Amino acid sequence: MAAAWHEPRCGCCSPRGLPPLPTAPPPSHAAPSVDSHSHIHQHAPQLSPSAPAPLLSAVLALDEDCWPRVLRYCASHRSAVPGLGIHPWRAHAAAAGWDARLAALLAAHPAAIVGEAGLCRAARNLRDPAGRARAWAAQLDVLARQLALGGTLRRAASLHCVKAHGAMAECLRGARAELPPAVALHSFSGGAAQVRELLAIGRVGGRLYFGFSHTVNVAMGGGEGSRRHAALLEAIRAVPAEALLVESDVDDSGSAADATARAVELVACARAWTCDETARRCAENGRRFLRGVGWGGGAAEGAREVDEEAAERAEMVRLCISIPSSSEVLVRVSLL
Ligand SMILES: [Zn+2]
Ligand SMILES: [Zn+2]
Repeated sequence: MAAAWHEPRCGCCSPRGLPPLPTAPPPSHAAPSVDSHSHIHQHAPQLSPSAPAPLLSAVLALDEDCWPRVLRYCASHRSAVPGLGIHPWRAHAAAAGWDARLAALLAAHPAAIVGEAGLCRAARNLRDPAGRARAWAAQLDVLARQLALGGTLRRAASLHCVKAHGAMAECLRGARAELPPAVALHSFSGGAAQVRELLAIGRVGGRLYFGFSHTVNVAMGGGEGSRRHAALLEAIRAVPAEALLVESDVDDSGSAADATARAVELVACARAWTCDETARRCAENGRRFLRGVGWGGGAAEGAREVDEEAAERAEMVRLCISIPSSSEVLVRVSLL
């Protein structure tokens, strides 16, 4: 049930939750941006649907109970793009038939992306020695099915990957089904060598995006002056300019713009770009990613080419909060 999800946000597995964002005034640059990964459906008390949107936000579900809430939020906030999926923390608890229900919802919501999906070696579901093997197998299976869905329906996928970059590379390299046309590793926590390793996977490279946040990449232990921060800057520099994304990864809609602006500052610092240039580049990348289009030549072939405004209008009409019954499944999705 939705009420059973007590984690404050996806937050990459800190048992104490994420620290609050700094209380300093928000950065002064004002270039519009795209928040490529958030959970702002979790806490949005003060925004009215008619309020001007500061940025385009991808709003990612954590588990099946989240799907209606994500869709409800996105139906009332024009600048929000829904992400529907099952987080690796919740993979062990996925109810039978979840993949068919997810396929039906994605088919009903053509602007929706897949996520949050992924792998997490630090997840609580792996801490019980007796159930660890089964929980890890569930993470791998749930990820593989979501990747297959994204590939079949030509949707972008937003992936969580913590302490599991080798396993993630294997999943992407060895997937038996078509992969999503655009794949983002959000709040990327690997190093420059792992960026290069992932980009070298022939069938993935040009469709792989790397997202960075202040919330996870800096506030959770990669503070300025630390070795982790130096490694983070090196990783950001290893990512092709067309593959860089910024994100808030917060669940509070009131802090998403500030958190995204701080992510822009982080990337700007690493790349020696101005904040405005960084925001502009990452916004362009973010819109391309959300449309399910890779940044590399060959990998973009067959990507879901959609007119953004038309898709948005269609989505506003189609969005509903009810989950279709299995008899309403309109597409046949070949799962692994
Ligand atoms: Zn997340
Ligand atoms: Zn995550």
